[in-house]
Amino acid sequence: MNNPLDTLLIHGGLTTDSKTGAVNTPIYQTSTYAQAALGQNLGYEYSRTKNPTRDGIESLIAELEGGKFGFAFASGMAAIGTILSLFKSGDKILISHNVYGGTFRILDKVFSNFNIRYEIIDMRDLSSLESAITPEVKALLIETPANPLMSVISLQQIAKVAKAKGILSIVDNTFMTPYLQRPLEFGIDIVVHSATKYLGGHSDVVAGLAVTSDEALAERIGFLQNSIGGVLAPFDSFLLIRGIKTLGLRMQRHCENALQIAEFLSSHSGVQKVYYPGLPTDEGYCIHKEQARGGGGMISFELKEGYDYREFFASTRLIALAESLGGVESLLCHPASMTHASIPAEIRAKVGITDSLIRLSVGIEYANDLIEDIAQAIERAKR
Ligand SMILES: *Cc1c(COP(=O)(O)O)cnc(C)c1O
Repeated sequence: MNNPLDTLLIHGGLTTDSKTGAVNTPIYQTSTYAQAALGQNLGYEYSRTKNPTRDGIESLIAELEGGKFGFAFASGMAAIGTILSLFKSGDKILISHNVYGGTFRILDKVFSNFNIRYEIIDMRDLSSLESAITPEVKALLIETPANPLMSVISLQQIAKVAKAKGILSIVDNTFMTPYLQRPLEFGIDIVVHSATKYLGGHSDVVAGLAVTSDEALAERIGFLQNSIGGVLAPFDSFLLIRGIKTLGLRMQRHCENALQIAEFLSSHSGVQKVYYPGLPTDEGYCIHKEQARGGGGMISFELKEGYDYREFFASTRLIALAESLGGVESLLCHPASMTHASIPAEIRAKVGITDSLIRLSVGIEYANDLIEDIAQAIERAKR
């Protein structure tokens, strides 16, 4: 899997220090900067506004996404909350099915207090999308593939519709990372990330990122970033830059392992259904293949009747049950009670997040070890 990003991952961003020649971005653990005289500074006044280590990750993610302006936040939700603060009372945002639970929650429980409304739309269906865009709709917010059913939406179509209607398109690119998918290239306006996941990659940092190529939009996002203040700390900026250096190697292995496991699950007599956009039998396979370089590392599946999913979760030895995803270690999650618990049960049922749905974040371990662990846990789950 050759990818032109491989060099940029190592050499992108502000990686050298002109003063010392340090090959890594130094950690500027400072809140403020001495000024030579009134109104005279070296471009830095206060670290909420600007910090050299944060500059490093902000320019790196902008380059990786093929954008011009990057912003780093204290979490994915801080990034998403800041981007949603672009809107005002009376505005409405259309969101795709199965957006991240926290994204749904902040719209449903926080921004609704400011009369910024949302509506869940099946964005795979062009006519239902277009007819939902009434004058108060100001943005489309999507994830593709969307967690936990890995449903795929055409980036090109979303960008085209948004442009035609003069509204913003926003893509949460957490699951793919720019290594596999670059939404700005399709005409999307803003990309957001929970960098806590694949970009950091080691389950040791909570961070969020946003990228755009539009200068006027970047100015507004920069203003909000500084005004709201949920910025990424210097040390965490460093951890993210460090993690991203191996993003290519990790994503390749995540994709290879996930495909092997998805194939194994598909052929297993105890498995009812497998959701993985890298499988040719998957509903979203064709569109996904056009816009992404690989299936990624996330798989969901359901066991057949006669298997107890609770027993499955209790039976894995290698793979831990935990929230989060995208780290080097494989993790299991129960969407209905964990990541998607903040979505009301009736909406969960409507979109297909059943109680027996199992989500697997495939790590970079030896694939056969993972398959062996899953196989024995399925065996134990048999009633
Ligand atoms: C985890 C996640 C978020 C939230 O990010 P945090 O870093 O946990 O705040 C947003 N979107 C997606 C798709 C995620 O997986």
